[in-house]
Amino acid sequence: MTEIATQFSLECSRCEWHGPDADISLCPDCDGILVVAYADPAIEVRPEQPGLWRYGAHLPLRDVASAVSLGEGNTPLLRSGRLEQAIGVRELHFKLEGSNPTGSYKDRIAAVGMARLRELGKRAWAATSSGNAGAAMAAYGVRAGVDGYLFTLEKAARAKIAQIMAYGPQVMAVERMGYDPAAELSAWANIRKVCQANEWLMLVTAHAFSPHAMEGVKTISYEIAEQLQGEVPDVVYVPVGGGGLCAAIWRGFVEWQAAGYATRTPRIVAVQPAGCDAIHQAWLKGSSKVEPIAECKSDISGLQLAAPADGELVLQTLAASGGWSLTIDDEATYAAQAKLARQEGLFVEPAAAISLAGVEADRATGRLRGDERVVCVLTGIGFKDANAIQRMVEHVPLPLIKADEILLLAGR
Ligand SMILES: [Zn+2]
Repeated sequence: MTEIATQFSLECSRCEWHGPDADISLCPDCDGILVVAYADPAIEVRPEQPGLWRYGAHLPLRDVASAVSLGEGNTPLLRSGRLEQAIGVRELHFKLEGSNPTGSYKDRIAAVGMARLRELGKRAWAATSSGNAGAAMAAYGVRAGVDGYLFTLEKAARAKIAQIMAYGPQVMAVERMGYDPAAELSAWANIRKVCQANEWLMLVTAHAFSPHAMEGVKTISYEIAEQLQGEVPDVVYVPVGGGGLCAAIWRGFVEWQAAGYATRTPRIVAVQPAGCDAIHQAWLKGSSKVEPIAECKSDISGLQLAAPADGELVLQTLAASGGWSLTIDDEATYAAQAKLARQEGLFVEPAAAISLAGVEADRATGRLRGDERVVCVLTGIGFKDANAIQRMVEHVPLPLIKADEILLLAGR
């Protein structure tokens, strides 16, 4: 890959603080979440580079030669075949992030994060995850040739973390993490300390911890705009757990417009599970801060964050984009997952399908008009969640027949 020298700095999402690039994620003045800012708004697209590295000149690396790649990015944007008409929207597109190498959009974060790790000369990565982010960090960590430490939930099912373990990082379950927000906050604080003491890089997939790595996510928006031949969608439905995906997708469209490639930006809709809705509660109150909920009651893996780290950025996104928040119960999410499989041929995890459930709910209430061009971000592949697969097919009969009985189907 060819060398570039991208000029970037850090700025606070909450106050006016602005400073040179550093290994920090929170504002020195106000503790607000930092985001990466670029000296030049132009986005140079290099079609000869693979996947998301075609936008490498607008990612926070000093040299694209630091890139760690397994073939991430450039995922399909697929137009709906049947559901678009059934739901009643002019255009419905699915961004298939499950097509990334480890099966989710987290690969975009891991790719940029490991490149950052190399540039900072760090020796290992450390992260928290119940699944997708852990698998992504573990795979890209192997590729980067560094050690990894993954802290997961006390009640993490081995089936759920099996993919992470396959890549060989140190995996540890933390007591009370996953149902006690205090345990989660204290785990994050201690990981931060160990990383500072050991020259490791913290790669938790939230801007509040890893603003540089999170830059990888905005390339989803660049790709959507290019795949729509320069058009911008009217509305983008985004599954929300910690909130980083939602904020980064918005930033991508804002940057695409600032670069002169588009004249407008889409409205962003944040879809949370009804049983884990801290951001939705804050949005309803018109608050600019998100309070953790006492207990997560949703079973949708990947979206179970009682204390969403980037919640504040989601609230900013909804206000700036003219979008809104909504919640979906788990049953409707599982139903949307089955519809995507049976009517579109798309096998996604429940956390991805919640975006489609959001479109359906908003069409039913009329909040989403029928003449709009809509994109659902389908964040991860269906293989990720063995329990959800079992749930989807447990009522499907599996008759045992004799070989001769196959002939009974003749003439059907
Ligand atoms: Zn600040």
